[in-house]
Amino acid sequence: MSEYVLAIDIGGTNVKAGLVDRAGNVSHMIHTPSRAAEGRDALFDVLRAIIQEQKTRAPIVAVGCGSPGCVDHYRGTIVYMQAHIPNWSGVPLARYLADWAGVPATIDNDVNLIALGEHWLGAGRGAACQLSLALGTGLGGGIVINGRLVRGARGRAAEFGHVVVRPGGEPCTCGNFGCAEVYAAPGAMARRAQWYLKSGVPTALHSARRVSAEEIITLAAQGDHLCRKLFHDALTSLAQLIWILTQTFDPDLFVIGGGMVKAGDAFFKPLRQELSSFYAAPELQPMVTIKASELGDNAGIVGAAKLAWDWLDGIDRS
Ligand SMILES: [Zn+2]
Repeated sequence: MSEYVLAIDIGGTNVKAGLVDRAGNVSHMIHTPSRAAEGRDALFDVLRAIIQEQKTRAPIVAVGCGSPGCVDHYRGTIVYMQAHIPNWSGVPLARYLADWAGVPATIDNDVNLIALGEHWLGAGRGAACQLSLALGTGLGGGIVINGRLVRGARGRAAEFGHVVVRPGGEPCTCGNFGCAEVYAAPGAMARRAQWYLKSGVPTALHSARRVSAEEIITLAAQGDHLCRKLFHDALTSLAQLIWILTQTFDPDLFVIGGGMVKAGDAFFKPLRQELSSFYAAPELQPMVTIKASELGDNAGIVGAAKLAWDWLDGIDRS
């Protein structure tokens, strides 16, 4: 009989969980509200219910779990979390999951696990140095070198969204100014668009059903002046970030995920063009490939499963 790990991906709004075998086949996916806004006890109830339900379906040999915030993988605790999940900081989550499931459990930052999932079975297969950018409400990152996550001294590595790309620029949630996230994260693009809309700038966005990054990219292609500016700001900031990271890590691959990549060439072509402008001579072009995520919304689950299988195999445990 096949063995399975239980892979869990905790988000601010929803929790996803599935059973994953050694080959990475995902089955019995559950999507359920996280109830995170009610506080950690409500989220604990959700996690316990998921574990009980999944244990009735197949023998589980370990649990791998991704959480937002700063996560200490080696100690199995949530170090720091902003307001999304009240009282989440300090929770020894790996120990709780292990107690509830009766098997070993291991945890990591959710975007780290997206990067690990893509490296295992997605766009990053075979990459020696893969950097991931997750474009969503914010801009998260992940670093996988020689198949292992790089977490830094305190588990805070790869906070790429808070690399300053425009010194003295617009304010960021982190308290700094001009962070990449402010311009390049779809959530931030939509917020900037709302600000321009309120100030009465003429744009087709006024009659759009939804103000989203996807809508902004579509209208930019149709020549809308404001949308072209917002998209251009996003691309130049992202290109600047990629350039800085290329100089720092010498990666062979960037994997970019999030709704914006669904725009395909309308997103990647101008991004590559912006990036090329950073190099004075063509021979200085880095040998770096930029790809769209292949696993999409499942990347976090696949990464959580890989974390759990590695943990069982004694890989990356200390
Ligand atoms: Zn910031």
